[in-house]
Amino acid sequence: MTPAELSPAEAVNEFFDEAAELIRLKDEFYEVLKTSYREISVQVPIRMDDGSERVFRGYRVQHNGARGPYKGGVRYHSQADLNEVRALASLMTWKCALMDIPFGGAKGGVMVDPLGMSPREVEAITRRYTLAISYLLGVQRDIPAPDVNTNAQTMAWMMDAYSGRYGYTPAIVTGKPVDLGGAPGREQATGRGVVYVLESAAKRSGMDLGSATVAIQGFGNVGSWAARDLADLDVKVVAVSDVNGGIYRDAGLDVRVLVETVQGGRSVVDLAGTDGIDAISNEELLTCRCDVLIPAALGEVLHNENAGDVQASIVVEAANHPTTPEGDKILNERGIQVIPDVLANGGGVTGSYFEWAMNIQQFRWKEDRFNEELRDVMSRSFDQTAAFAEGRGVPMRRAAFAIGIERVARAARLRGYV
Ligand code: GLU
Repeated sequence: MTPAELSPAEAVNEFFDEAAELIRLKDEFYEVLKTSYREISVQVPIRMDDGSERVFRGYRVQHNGARGPYKGGVRYHSQADLNEVRALASLMTWKCALMDIPFGGAKGGVMVDPLGMSPREVEAITRRYTLAISYLLGVQRDIPAPDVNTNAQTMAWMMDAYSGRYGYTPAIVTGKPVDLGGAPGREQATGRGVVYVLESAAKRSGMDLGSATVAIQGFGNVGSWAARDLADLDVKVVAVSDVNGGIYRDAGLDVRVLVETVQGGRSVVDLAGTDGIDAISNEELLTCRCDVLIPAALGEVLHNENAGDVQASIVVEAANHPTTPEGDKILNERGIQVIPDVLANGGGVTGSYFEWAMNIQQFRWKEDRFNEELRDVMSRSFDQTAAFAEGRGVPMRRAAFAIGIERVARAARLRGYV
């Protein structure tokens, strides 16, 4: 697992410091931009199916709201402690600013491993948690969305719990089922955005994606949609993984079969041994032979012990905070292009912005329009970041943070925070 380096919040603040120094951010901004505006920790007590009572811990961190209402997902994970949620809230601030959408950054989490829990238990956690943090939420205040181990159904329960207290409020969460006001295209948006960004990167560097090989760690919502869109572009996906492990096939995997397998409730690992498919571990996937590596699962998977062995020439960070600062340094020194999380996975929150705007206007876009607008935002953000990085001779992460910080600092100044 992760070697002990910096905590997630320290790591994000290190990325912040490097970018802030580059743009010579004035001292008076540091405190307000590096700390959270508000952090809440709540009890989430529920009755389990066996009749026992358990109390989980939930958090919502609102990092910075200078540019608009707080926005960010909610994750259910045993490691979703306050430090991690704080780090991820800060990433949301820079991500929303970089995408130039009118939101600040937030994140939520409940420290629970929902795998193996019944849907009723997960629903009970969701409703309790939502009501506990509901005082901080609002269509113009803070709008949650899915993240690790949460999905459209979770958002439906959150919307229902909130609406039960405050009246019908579809715009209180994004990433809802389409039947409840979700936007057609939102579910695919994060994975699709990853592919749009990769296309922009290939175009800029002259790389022929058609002959490239891709490895994807994680086959959840983000990884599986990225794989499907890559397959549609005839790009070869050679490795994928899920919580049970990974698979590799030199000649490329059949993404349709992977999707059917997972939709049938099985693991991608079940395909190992068939059709020339080898079993590999999640760890091995990160250093397997490929041109493009897409970590699309958990955080801190690329670090000082394995970054030196990565064989890809491009890393596209579909997960949040998949690379530690030490790992990042090694990848940079080795000349591996890292497209950072705040840029690469920004399609998710951008799609959320479209959904929120549609809910407020009570007008639904066609999916084609959604995808067209998403592509515009992703390619514009990529080009701005790449131009900044090239102009200043810095890695894309520093450029992405620098652009985000400049925008938030300007808003903070105009509003009189500093
Ligand atoms: N959880 C996603 C992220 O980390 C989406 C957040 C949102 O849509 O608010 O970007």
